[in-house]
Amino acid sequence: MLGTTVAAALYKPEIIEALGAAATGEKHVVWLQGAGCTGCTMSLLQTDDPDLAEAIEWFRLSIDFHPTIMVPAGNNALESLKGIKEGSVPLDVLIVEGAIPKGGYCLVGEEEGKPINFEEWVKSLGSRATYIIAVGTCAAFGGIPSARPNPTGCRSVKDVLPEKTVVNIPGCPPHPDWMLLTLGVVLLGHENWIELDELGRPKVFYYDYIHNNCQRRQFFENLTFAEKPSEDGCLYFLGCRGPITKSDCPNRLWNKGTSYCIISNAPCIGCTEKGFPDEPFAPFYEKIENPDCPPPVKPPATVDYDALRKESSQSSSNLLSGGLLRDATLAIAVAGIGATAGFLLGRRRKGPSKGEEAKSER
Ligand code: SF4
Ligand code: SF4
Repeated sequence: MLGTTVAAALYKPEIIEALGAAATGEKHVVWLQGAGCTGCTMSLLQTDDPDLAEAIEWFRLSIDFHPTIMVPAGNNALESLKGIKEGSVPLDVLIVEGAIPKGGYCLVGEEEGKPINFEEWVKSLGSRATYIIAVGTCAAFGGIPSARPNPTGCRSVKDVLPEKTVVNIPGCPPHPDWMLLTLGVVLLGHENWIELDELGRPKVFYYDYIHNNCQRRQFFENLTFAEKPSEDGCLYFLGCRGPITKSDCPNRLWNKGTSYCIISNAPCIGCTEKGFPDEPFAPFYEKIENPDCPPPVKPPATVDYDALRKESSQSSSNLLSGGLLRDATLAIAVAGIGATAGFLLGRRRKGPSKGEEAKSER
């Protein structure tokens, strides 16, 4: 934990500074961490447009609690959680990272000498939160901590709060855009933009199978398969789960739009799906039988730009106060989702067409 904090401080000290100054923010957010590896937090810290420090300012965030990157520690840190639990402090968004183990396998602080388990925190804060976001596959579906034989009884947030709406942002870890844009849209009061799929994921990020947008798809069609990870060709025989995994990784790309697993010569292992990492995602690097991938779907239209502009110019008293701040804040939400649309429209496949391949053989 300390190591991660120090790494975060070294990497982006302004984030720590912004978190310290965010106490006056108007939107209260609590980020809990249960059974997980902190990878989701580390992914969020890599966000670059905006970076987290800018986002805190623009979304007027008060991150009241985040075990890895918050400034207070010990009882001081727990005070804000207790205020929310008792109802004296509002809670706009509860973000949960990590799965929820049964009973005493995960303890977060104590009250009058009695340890409080993580499940109790999720239940009590979840009942007070206006919105609940489960970041990462562990929180969304149980993920790696719930893999068979699951000795700690790890479960998802929805399993623990079945009566609440939970927005799931799976991924191991999730793309920073998926987390930050969802949070931004919710905090700006546009949660009705978020259309969820049957697994509670925002459709805008998880609308189609990776196989349908993969840069190596033409290789698959041409039956040109890689036998080793470093080779050109479709990675199907190396265990690629792209035909059974939904996410916009091939379009959005990672690390400032540089790459993602398949471009980096690694098969998709299905990290955004319910059931990961058990079958049919395991055993990794062994092919799945007869992938029955449905045909491509059109990207969802998520943002009505005209309506948004109208709202931006007419409303001076909605969520956002200053004109400049308002435009910047709206731009953030639009830019991110607009970027998704841009990537989607501009997608290309890497493999040669049948004609090109035939030409090169001559
Ligand atoms: S590499 Fe994976 S996702 Fe891409 S075409 Fe092959 S099987 Fe499909
Ligand atoms: S390509 Fe597959 S394994 Fe890689 S991040 Fe995307 S969903 Fe996860």
